[in-house]
Order: sequence, then structure tokens, then C-alpha cells
Amino acid sequence: MKIAIIGAGFGGMAAAYDLAKAGHFVTIYEAADFVGGLASGFQEPGWDWSVEKFYHHWFASDRHMLGLIEELGWSEDVIFPRPFTVLLHNNKWYPFDSILKALTFPGLGWGLNKLRFGLVGLYLRLSNNWKALEKYTVEEWMRRWAGRTVYEKMWQPLVIGKFGPYYKDINMAWMWARLKARTTRLGTFKGGFQAFADRFADHLRGMGVEIRLGTGVASIDRAQAEGPLMIEADSGVEMYDQVLVTASPGLLARLCPQLPETYLEGLLGLKSMGAVVMVTALEHRISERGYYWFNLPKDAGFPMLALVEHTNFVSPEHFGGDHIVYAGDYLEAGHEYFSLSEAELLERFAPAFKRINPKFEMDWVKKVWVFKTAYAQPVPLVDHSRNIPDIQTPLEGLFFASMSQVYPWDRGTNFAVEIGRRAARLMME
Ligand SMILES: Cc1cc2nc3c(=O)[nH]c(=O)nc-3n(C[C@H](O)[C@H](O)[C@H](O)COP(=O)(O)OP(=O)(O)OC[C@H]3O[C@@H](n4cnc5c(N)ncnc54)[C@H](O)[C@@H]3O)c2cc1C
Repeated sequence: MKIAIIGAGFGGMAAAYDLAKAGHFVTIYEAADFVGGLASGFQEPGWDWSVEKFYHHWFASDRHMLGLIEELGWSEDVIFPRPFTVLLHNNKWYPFDSILKALTFPGLGWGLNKLRFGLVGLYLRLSNNWKALEKYTVEEWMRRWAGRTVYEKMWQPLVIGKFGPYYKDINMAWMWARLKARTTRLGTFKGGFQAFADRFADHLRGMGVEIRLGTGVASIDRAQAEGPLMIEADSGVEMYDQVLVTASPGLLARLCPQLPETYLEGLLGLKSMGAVVMVTALEHRISERGYYWFNLPKDAGFPMLALVEHTNFVSPEHFGGDHIVYAGDYLEAGHEYFSLSEAELLERFAPAFKRINPKFEMDWVKKVWVFKTAYAQPVPLVDHSRNIPDIQTPLEGLFFASMSQVYPWDRGTNFAVEIGRRAARLMME
């Protein structure tokens, strides 16, 4: 078959890998002039490794991604350091990313709250019944089972930070998936995610896959009822037996208005959050204790959700000695951060740097980059499984595999690989 894939993120590339391996002729259309999609990175002169535009790491439980890397024979290029994630309590930061660290965290006292926190965490880790959980919001389920203090101290800041105005509506299966799939050790690829994406793209080219960079697709159409699908792109019009779209639901609706109304309504009804992430190269490290991920509670006056010191995860020697620090937030489209310049955003976020390390001065900042995306995080509401669009769309030959369909799992490159490969299997059936 002649197959087109729209998007050279990890979902599109994973699908291309299986389709090309089975002997199909695959062309990937990618609007950007690089592969890797949301997990792509950039590299400054003097850096040996790339830095992801949006902070990225793998969990040791990311079996689809790690399995693919193993198939490719590149496992020795995956590293799993032990970085530290910290939470704020009484103006002090405490590691909070393992059972032992959670048990010694002073924020919940030593009595009933800690017990409830532990029992609820254990139940969620052991349970597989996410379907029952999606009927409740995190707010109602956690208040009931973990109690007000545990919810308001531990879980509410997380859902507020991630989902802003939707935080009271997020279903409990999302929280279950987060707790179920996460590990203390975090992984990355030697050279950064971009090094892996580029190597994967080269491997695909070697298998005969054509990757057209800088080639946005404008529409997908079927001229005749039984005929092939027609793709109109920057490179011209071309016919395919099958097409797989791996971008957002909104984009699929725009590309193919010919889809039946109910399917289109389903696509357009899905909500998502955007993200704004500032990357800074600093002269000195922010966290002298070597902490990697700071969860910043907004009610403590922080202007963003997370401060992530990448070079407390991988060594600054890969970046010419620069200390790489992210400051990021999930936001609704239209939030003012989307329209701020690098300098304006730095001005907003710098006080948080100083709060974490009072020695911080603006002249530590060597360079700033800002990355924005309108589609960063699907929003799962109650009974969300009913809203997930099928991979096989009602238009014969047209398939759709995106972050919005990996539910109940939270989006991530691991699940992009899983759904890309699942779509490839369906296409070949
Ligand atoms: C802030 C943030 C932090 C994250 N952290 C992590 C993490 O720590 N670990 C992790 O594993 N995952 C993380 N993720 C999620 C991860 O990046 C995504 O789940 C994954 O990259 C999605 O891959 P994909 O192939 O489904 O989509 P995408 O990567 O979005 O790929 C879709 C591609 O389609 C292209 N495209 C769009 N429109 C067109 C068009 N008209 N024509 C042609 N091409 C088009 C886009 O340019 C893009 O390259 C994070 C995401 C964000 C935003």
C-alpha cells in the first residue's frame, strides 16, 4: 500500500517503522523543518547534546518506548540517572519522589493524614480498575478517601497547576494513571531526545520511508467514493491508499471537514491545555542541593508550575558548562504568557529563581529561549472513555492516532509510540 503519515513526532515515526517493515511505501509529511514534534530539541554551538524545548524524560516503566529502542539495538544509549523531585513545605524543599521520601516528608505530619496518604497511594498503585475511577473527579474522590488535608496539600496544587480552570472537573483515572506509571529513576537518550529522533528518522529513511520536512498538509479529501485519499500539501497534490494523522484533533477536523458530523463534533469537543516553557542557560546552578524538579504551588505565589534544572539530571558538561533551567506552565489558549517576549517572560519568572536560590542574579542568565504550544495536555473529564475518537475514522482509509487517544494514560512519548504502532497494526488488518 501507499501510505501517508502526517507528523514526524514519535507517534508518526513509530507507525512508519512498522508499516515500512511490513513492506508498505510510506511518506511522512512534517510541517516543521525537524523531526521529533513536541519532544524535539535544539542545540547551541558549544553544546554536545541537544536540550528538549519542553522538558522531557522517560520513566523506567515506559515499556513501549524502551522496547522500541531495544528493537533498534540502541539501548546502550539510554541512561537512567536518579534526579530528585521536590515539594515545598514551610519554605523548605523536600524530596518527594519515592515511597521512602514520601514517608519522611514532614508536610503531612506523622498521624492519620500520612496513613491515609499512604493507603490511598498503595490502593491506586495496586488497582487496575481505572474505569470505576473515571466516574469521579479527583476533587471528590480524593476528598472522600484521602481526606481534606491530604488532598489540599498534596494533590490539589498538582491538578490546579496542570489544568487551571478545569481542575475540579478532572477525572480520577488521570490521577490513577499518573501514580501507576511513574518511577523514581528517569531516563533520557545520550545526546538528548533530538539525537534519538534524528537517528530514528535516518533509520526510517534507510528502510525506504520518505520524510518530507517543511511540508505542511492543507487538506485530506476523497474525490470519488471508492477512490484513493488525496492529500494537498506544500509539495503538491498526491494520492494514497491510506492516511494516518498524528496531530491534534482540531487539526484533523480542519484538514478533513468531509468527516461525518458526529465524528467532527467529537474531535472538536475534546479539551486540551497549551504550554509555555522558558529555557535559560545560566552561569551557575540554581539548586545547590542538586534538585531536578521543583513542584511550585501557585497558591504560594509562584508565577509558574514547575522549575526544572535539566543539568541536575544530566551533566552541564554536555552543554559547555551552561546550567540549563526550565520554567514552565500549562495554560489555556489566550493566556497572556502566550504573547510575552523572552525578556518579558524572564522578568515574570526570575523572582521564582531568586526564591529558590537567593544568590540568583539576572546577570547569571546567558541566554533565554521560549517555546509555546497550543496543544500540550489533553483534559480528561468524567467518563472520558466515551469521548475518545476511534483510531479508524469513519472515512475509509483515514486513521487518527494522537495524544488525545492514549487515555486512560497521560500523554507521553511512550504512549505516542504505543498508539502509533497500534494504528499501524489496524491499518494493516
Ligand atoms: C510541556 C511538555 C512536557 C512533556 N514532558 C514529557 C516527558 O517528560 N516525557 C514524555 O515522554 N513526554 C512528554 N511530553 C509529551 C510528549 O512530548 C508527547 O506525548 C509526544 O511527543 C507526542 O508525540 P506525537 O507524535 O503524538 O505528536 P507530536 O509530537 O505533536 O507530533 C505531531 C507532528 O505533526 C506535525 N504537524 C502538525 N500539523 C501538521 C500539518 N498540517 N502538516 C504536517 N505536519 C503537521 C507537528 O509539527 C508535529 O511534529 C511533554 C509534552 C509537553 C508539551
